[in-house]
Amino acid sequence: MSNECLVCSEPMSIAADILAGEILACGACGQEHELLMPDGQHKLALAPEIEEDWGE
Ligand SMILES: [Zn+2]
Repeated sequence: MSNECLVCSEPMSIAADILAGEILACGACGQEHELLMPDGQHKLALAPEIEEDWGE
């Protein structure tokens, strides 16, 4: 299974045992992606931006 970064199209490898909702950072541009599995298949979406005042 291979997916590409949504920003720079760099191929991103996804571990077979990864769970939906995991955040993956592109090794090339650093863009974070959230892994979705709508139909049991891996799908990458841009991760929501983290609030500045996230706390712990
Ligand atoms: Zn990228």
